[in-house]
Amino acid sequence: MKLTTNLPRVVIVGGGFGGLEAARGLKGLPVCITLIDRQNHHCFQPLLYQVATAVLSPADIAWPIRGILRAQPNARVIMAEVVSVDTAAKIVHTDSVELPYDYLVLATGATHSYFGHDEWEIDAPGLKRISDATELRRRLLIAFEEAELTDDGATQRSLLTFVIVGAGPTGVEMSGAIAEVALQTLPPEFREVDPRSARIILIEAGPRVLPSFPEDLSAYTQQSLEKMGVEVMTSTRVTKCDKAGVDIEGGRIDAHTVIWAAGVVASPAAKWIDAPADHAGRVEVEPDLSVPGHPDIFAVGDTASVHYDGGKSVPGIAPAAKQMGRYVAKLITSRVLNTPKPAAFAYKHQGDLATIGRRIAVVKLSNNFALKGIIGWLFWSLAHVYFLIGIRNRFVVAFTWMWQFLTLQRSARIISQVPKWSRYTSEEDT
Ligand SMILES: Cc1cc2nc3c(=O)[nH]c(=O)nc-3n(C[C@H](O)[C@H](O)[C@H](O)COP(=O)(O)OP(=O)(O)OC[C@H]3O[C@@H](n4cnc5c(N)ncnc54)[C@H](O)[C@@H]3O)c2cc1C
Repeated sequence: MKLTTNLPRVVIVGGGFGGLEAARGLKGLPVCITLIDRQNHHCFQPLLYQVATAVLSPADIAWPIRGILRAQPNARVIMAEVVSVDTAAKIVHTDSVELPYDYLVLATGATHSYFGHDEWEIDAPGLKRISDATELRRRLLIAFEEAELTDDGATQRSLLTFVIVGAGPTGVEMSGAIAEVALQTLPPEFREVDPRSARIILIEAGPRVLPSFPEDLSAYTQQSLEKMGVEVMTSTRVTKCDKAGVDIEGGRIDAHTVIWAAGVVASPAAKWIDAPADHAGRVEVEPDLSVPGHPDIFAVGDTASVHYDGGKSVPGIAPAAKQMGRYVAKLITSRVLNTPKPAAFAYKHQGDLATIGRRIAVVKLSNNFALKGIIGWLFWSLAHVYFLIGIRNRFVVAFTWMWQFLTLQRSARIISQVPKWSRYTSEEDT
């Protein structure tokens, strides 16, 4: 791809929280920015579980990256997948074009880790992209539809058993939301099967749910989930996932729907540039977020390994990615304008939030201030609406939540096309 410019070329890979923040931070600077993403949209991952559980529609939590950067003339957007980087020639290789760079920002995020068992993914999908959320929504809704059709008790029980592996924020949010679908939204609509007979099982290998939260909030979360009808199994390791359920240490659970929320691994960015990486594949960066031996390459967000507060690992959350993106934009600005370099990157942890249900959440702010229950949920809701992009989305999401709060309805209950590999695909579809 031809790109003739005398300006410094900044290539940003990834239009997630970190990459977008870096691009926006360079607004007005005499540079030529190219933001590459394999998707055409930025996804607000914290609300993906609400798409998966039919509260919100995909377009409520995703925006075209071109649209976001439309008022920034020094930035252009390319939809392509990066496959490698030639650090000697300073060229990014994608599946379609090659892009030379003077500065490179790697902001390619993370994905699910199956701890060496990638073959589990097809039967126990995780939640990372919009397509994952619509696929989970489809599986969830189809399970109830099929349960309505069968007279076989064992098949029905298996169809109405939902296993969620991993009790971090995503696992907790998914299990609480599925319990609400089964126990509150669907019962008046089914005639043959009672959705209230559904089992929602949250399995955690560690001793408690929400391990990154203080113990009292973990205990509160577990009690709240149990009151909502979720079976919580802690200190229980899943040893196998297959089409028909999961093996756990000392037993077996038959379940047609298994959701993976247990582990993450960084994008292969460290491999592209042959950089040192931690156990999760994240690039071990210098204090200014540059890659060792490559002062013009930076890694930010979930794909970077950064420490703070005496050695703690910066968590893989959106505010951390944004802070890193903003910092790198400042650093590149100082290099381009030849002004003093900013001090080393210093992460500020603002807190942890997780919602448990339609009106319950737990919040732990950095000053040790904690909220729970409906007050926590109000705080969580305001924070998430605030961080959404665009007035339309803020309005739609706030209205949808208010509507759901009052009516228990989930309006985004669409079963979209059945993919070829699905066990729900009929002979005719293949
Ligand atoms: C289900 C879920 C719930 C979450 N909930 C919360 C929450 O409540 N609060 C919170 O703070 N954080 C939450 N997080 C974490 C948060 O979303 C991430 O920490 C954040 O998105 C990291 O930002 P990033 O820019 O590093 O990566 P991402 O936002 O993941 O962006 C990476 C981008 O890179 C692109 N990309 C990847 N590889 C390539 C390639 N080879 N070529 C081109 N493009 C590529 C991707 O398409 C993507 O757009 C959640 C994450 C998930 C998955």
